[in-house]
Amino acid sequence: MRTPLVAGNWKMHKTPSEARVWFNEFLDELGAAPPGVEVALLPSHPLLPVAAEELAGSGVAFGAQDVSAHAWGAYTGEVSALQVADLGARYAVVGHSERRRYWREPSELVAAKADQALKAGLTPILCVGEPLEVREAGGAVAYVLDQLRRSLAGVEPGGPDRLVVAYEPVWAIGTGRTATPADAETMAAALREELAVRYGAGFAEGVRVLYGGSIKPENFAEILAGANVDGGLVGGASLEVASFLRLVLLAGGL
Ligand code: PEP
Repeated sequence: MRTPLVAGNWKMHKTPSEARVWFNEFLDELGAAPPGVEVALLPSHPLLPVAAEELAGSGVAFGAQDVSAHAWGAYTGEVSALQVADLGARYAVVGHSERRRYWREPSELVAAKADQALKAGLTPILCVGEPLEVREAGGAVAYVLDQLRRSLAGVEPGGPDRLVVAYEPVWAIGTGRTATPADAETMAAALREELAVRYGAGFAEGVRVLYGGSIKPENFAEILAGANVDGGLVGGASLEVASFLRLVLLAGGL
């Protein structure tokens, strides 16, 4: 039985003081998280110490949106997985499509980042997803599985709780368009099969595969109904306490 994960990717939104207000309001409204749902917030790097402070003892996890492919050293502007882990973070997103697209991050670099995250004790949330033209040409599954394989080259999570895979079709991120629940399920099942080939059946059975791309309270329940979809990576709808809270409750069946 996999515990659903609802993770909020704030992208480059909110100042540290706005984040503090958001965390307090969210924890007040959440009370106790619904049993059997894991919640994580993924704010930008300067907000991580605030997350560490405000979320301490709440059971709500936090993580970074990206980490360096290097452990430490002369890499001006980079943030290492070790620095993030030392704050008490649980997760690090790697390979988000915005980084693949705007910073031209190839899957080989994503694999190096996942490896650093694991070595630092973080669980990578590895994002994969196809552009629109690939889906329209019928090549989405092959494209995404190839991306997965290359993004995991040399990466050894060690157990299913040390990796999360997020299927995020590029054309659905921040656009208001969502994959159909059937397409999300088909891709999640294909990813799980590939993870079985790579790491074994037991690993694949336990690893969580999320969907991401314009998740809203109105569409989340039907996406979650897919047997292989174990939660959501949420951008826009995680910025407001009310909508993110609604998604957490939906994942808890409420
Ligand atoms: C994301 O940033 O990972 C994302 C899925 O964004 P949105 O929910 O806004 O589409």
